[in-house]
Amino acid sequence: MVNKEKIKEAVTLLLEGIGEDVNREGLKDTPDRIARMYEEIFAGMDQKSSEHLAKTFHAENNEIVLEKDIVFYSMCEHHLMPFYGKAHVAYIPDGKVVGLSKIARTVEVYARRLQIQEQMGAQIADALMDELGAKGAMVMIEAEHMCMTMRGVKKPGSKTVTIVTRGAFAEDEKLQNSFYHMLQRS
Ligand code: ZN
Repeated sequence: MVNKEKIKEAVTLLLEGIGEDVNREGLKDTPDRIARMYEEIFAGMDQKSSEHLAKTFHAENNEIVLEKDIVFYSMCEHHLMPFYGKAHVAYIPDGKVVGLSKIARTVEVYARRLQIQEQMGAQIADALMDELGAKGAMVMIEAEHMCMTMRGVKKPGSKTVTIVTRGAFAEDEKLQNSFYHMLQRS
């Protein structure tokens, strides 16, 4: 659980730090508003992907399962600024599959905390490997980082793309190509 009182104190200090008048009308409730908002956007800290991946179904067909275009919002741990985009998550079951919504839930668990994009992809892939006993997992994340696009030379809309492969996907380039091929189909 986030400590809302601490967040309120910190936001008040932050506002003072940038030279604001914390008592003016528009800012009066800002510390409290941010504290309540942080409770939601960091909710993943109190959750485990195992809660979502525990209920599995038996499957005969052990081919690639791909859940693509999972929209997520996260917070960069270096700048406390949002990064957001889409995650494409694939795994190769070993007799066990989960409901497709559970993959999106797993993305949420790892997005709703302070993150770096590469680590988020790795955590999602590892969750599928460890908790489903998948034969392989592959996660591609495409995201826009506000800490990059709001300042400096980076153009708005520029995206950072990261890829993580585990198990069979790491060993077999043909499987990786199947992933890319499946992504391109609408
Ligand atoms: Zn950043």
